[in-house]
Amino acid sequence: MSTENKFIENTFHTARLKPLRKGKKPPKLLAVVHQSGCTGCEVCIAGCPVDSIELVPGPNPENPSFQQVVEIDLARCIGCQNCSQDCPWETITMYHHDDAFTAWSGETEKSELYITEEKLKLMTEKSTVLGK
Ligand code: SF4
Ligand code: SF4
Repeated sequence: MSTENKFIENTFHTARLKPLRKGKKPPKLLAVVHQSGCTGCEVCIAGCPVDSIELVPGPNPENPSFQQVVEIDLARCIGCQNCSQDCPWETITMYHHDDAFTAWSGETEKSELYITEEKLKLMTEKSTVLGK
């Protein structure tokens, strides 16, 4: 795999301004959205106690709410299972902590939280230019 396709944390995402998960032990379970079944209805967002579900805008920048989906920030999820119980389309699965990271790569097809190194590089260059 080339370095351009390696996914890393998007340090510019607004989720990084939210509080991190409290507690020393990682949760036993973490939630992962199977985005191919997600309708972007946002029901899961309303029930998340730690605000760890993020919208991924649709492909058209002129109409970002069309064909949007959600993704879950594994760094903040506390594994409460609200979202997996609330989703009307049963498209959120709870995984054991370590398995969730593997499942994420297969089920989270569109992400704003984790992006390619190449994309982060472009965003960094743009912010540097704007900051001048
Ligand atoms: S399991 Fe709970 S904390 Fe994690 S994303 Fe779902 S609602 Fe939020
Ligand atoms: S409740 Fe289910 S279908 Fe609706 S946005 Fe959340 S994951 Fe997608």
